[in-house]
Amino acid sequence: MDEAKGLQQFRTPGEMRMAVRAWQAAGLRVGLVPTMGALHAGHLSLVERIAEVVDRVIVSIFVNPTQFGPDEDFAAYPRPIARDLAALADQPADAVYLPDAATMYPEDFSTSVQVGTLGKILEGKFRPGHFEGVATVVTKLLGASRADVAIFGEKDYQQLVVIRRLVRDLDLGTEILAAPIVREPDGLALSSRNAYLDAQARAVAPALYRTLCALKKAAQSGGELRALEREGVRRLREAGFEAVDYCTFRDPETLQEISRLDRPARLLAVARLAGTRLLDNLEVVPIGGG
Ligand code: AMP
Repeated sequence: MDEAKGLQQFRTPGEMRMAVRAWQAAGLRVGLVPTMGALHAGHLSLVERIAEVVDRVIVSIFVNPTQFGPDEDFAAYPRPIARDLAALADQPADAVYLPDAATMYPEDFSTSVQVGTLGKILEGKFRPGHFEGVATVVTKLLGASRADVAIFGEKDYQQLVVIRRLVRDLDLGTEILAAPIVREPDGLALSSRNAYLDAQARAVAPALYRTLCALKKAAQSGGELRALEREGVRRLREAGFEAVDYCTFRDPETLQEISRLDRPARLLAVARLAGTRLLDNLEVVPIGGG
């Protein structure tokens, strides 16, 4: 960023588009960081990373109702907006997009975006409609901003894959960047939902990352993948997780099951703790292979 300036605020697609048009007309590249707020160091890493490859950065903050199921935490989801704006003041961000729900979804809103099988497996199975909500809101954010680049965290790995596919299928033309998972010193992936964990649950939580690391090592040493997945579930239950929604080695692009580690894979897991679903994943590259 070349000059010191305050954070601009856009409330409507029109306001944002006007500013983006002016930037792009001046030859500047524009990046978008979609978030639901309650910003932590993981979100801020996305801002820093995208700022390295664009000239102007917009952070959107919108708790998107359509990606929450009826029994999920939409109402309880944290919304510390003043704190978020203060956190962004120290970042290489130029603007925030803060639409309200009525702007995003007027009463006669009637279009939605579905991403086929990719959106129905894994998270899509446990959260029906979730990726339809995500795909629709991301299409709106990319359309409203016309950003050149947008960035998403590997923390929500399936979301990243879904969005890459969506952007390709619908010819949206936005470059999609991925950012690695930012973790606590004990390995727990940062998440706005970690705030729901009490001290006891917080002590159990890092076992998720530890277990994934152990499974990765065992797979790289030639362990049979289905047996390792079962071992992962057993370890997580033993560590104190109440349930394991999945723990599975997948193809990194199709997210289909793989039978052997003969090329890079993704190990994805979701385990439940004190009513909170904790997500984590790791890249697993065969040793001596790809
Ligand atoms: P959310 O506000 O949860 O919708 O997340 C907004 C973006 O931040 C998504 O692209 C997430 O994948 C990303 N993100 C969330 N937590 C982390 C993390 N611990 N490390 C990296 N990216 C993250």
